[in-house]
Amino acid sequence: MATNEYATTTTRGDALLEVENLQTAFFTDKEVIRAVDGISFDIERGETVGIVGESGSGKSVTARSIMGLVDSPGRVLDDSSIRFDGEELTGKSEEEYRKLRGGDIAMVFQDPLTSLNPVYTVGNQIKEALRLHQGLTGTEATEEAINLLEAVGIPDAGRRVKEYPHEFSGGMRQRAVIAMALACDPELLICDEPTTALDVTIQAQILELLQELQEERDLAIMFITHDMGVIAEIADRVNVMYAGEIVETAPVVELFENPRHPYTRGLLKSIPGNNPEADRLATIEGDVPTPNEPATYCRFAPRCPEAFDECEKVHPVPVAVDDDAGDHAAACLLYPEDVTQDQAVELHRAEAKESEEEL
Ligand code: SF4
Repeated sequence: MATNEYATTTTRGDALLEVENLQTAFFTDKEVIRAVDGISFDIERGETVGIVGESGSGKSVTARSIMGLVDSPGRVLDDSSIRFDGEELTGKSEEEYRKLRGGDIAMVFQDPLTSLNPVYTVGNQIKEALRLHQGLTGTEATEEAINLLEAVGIPDAGRRVKEYPHEFSGGMRQRAVIAMALACDPELLICDEPTTALDVTIQAQILELLQELQEERDLAIMFITHDMGVIAEIADRVNVMYAGEIVETAPVVELFENPRHPYTRGLLKSIPGNNPEADRLATIEGDVPTPNEPATYCRFAPRCPEAFDECEKVHPVPVAVDDDAGDHAAACLLYPEDVTQDQAVELHRAEAKESEEEL
C-alpha cells in the first residue's frame, strides 16, 4: 500500500464496478504485449466514466477484459481484480461470464452490424434478449420490444420491429443495438466508440439518448472514445489512457479546465477550435508505443515536450496533482506540483519500488 500523502487510490469504495491493478497481456512467440498494464478505476451507479486515448492505448482491451472477452494469446494476469457489485469477476468460467454479459453488464460496439444478425428481424433479436434475460415471450415480448424501440427514439416502432437490420440507417441500427442492450436490463453499459461511425448530428442524438436512458434507469456507463469532444459531452469523470496505463484521472470539468499531464494537454490542443491562434491543428508527433516491456520509465517520454532526464529512468505512478487536488491525479514526474522536482521524482521512485515489491 502507498505510504505518502500524495499517493492516490483510484477506486472510491462502494462503487458498482471496481477495477484494481488490471493487467492484460498478449503472449506471442516474439514478445509479451502489456496491452493493459496495472490500471485502477471505478464507476458508481448513475455515473458515466469516460476512457479516452489514441488507438493502441488499451481502451478496448480494458472493456474486453471486464466482459471476459479476451481471446488467446491474451489473458488477464493474476493479481488483477475486477469487482462488479462486490463480486470478483476474474477467474469466472465462460459459462458464468456468458450469464453476466448481456445481463447485468451489456456492451455496445462501434459497428452495430457486429451485434445484429442480418437474417433475423430487429424485433426478433430484441425478443430473444427479452426471453433470455427477462423470461418474456409471445405478445408480452413483442410489446416490450416495441416499447424499447420507442424508448430509443425509433419512430413507427410497431412497423419497424418487423424489419431487418439492412432496412435501418446506421444511426437507427445503433439505436436498435442500444434497445437490445436495454432488453437485458443491465446495470452497467459499456460503450466502445459507439458513435465513431456516425455523422455528427446522429452522434449528438445518440449521446443525448444515452444520457436520458441513464437518468431514467440509474445506469452506470463506461464510455470509450478517442474523441475529447465526445468525452466533454457525455462523461462525469475521465480516465486518460496511454500505452496501457491511466496517465490522468479527474472529474470532466476539472480535466478540461486544468489538464496536468502533458499527454492530456496535447489531446486537448488537438481538438479543432481549441487553439484558434494556431495556423494548423496541433498534433502529438509520433505514435503510441507498443508496451512490450515492463514500464521502468515514462512511456510518453519520446513524445513529451516537457521530458527531462529522469523521465527515461523512473516510472511515474498516479499521484495527486497537488495537496488539495481531491480526486485529480496524474502519472507524471512533474507532480505533485507543490514539491520540488527532485522531491517529486523521489516520490515516484519510492512508489514505483513499493508497487514492484508488492508484486
Ligand atoms: S514523466 Fe516526464 S516524459 Fe512523462 S509525461 Fe511527465 S514530463 Fe513528460
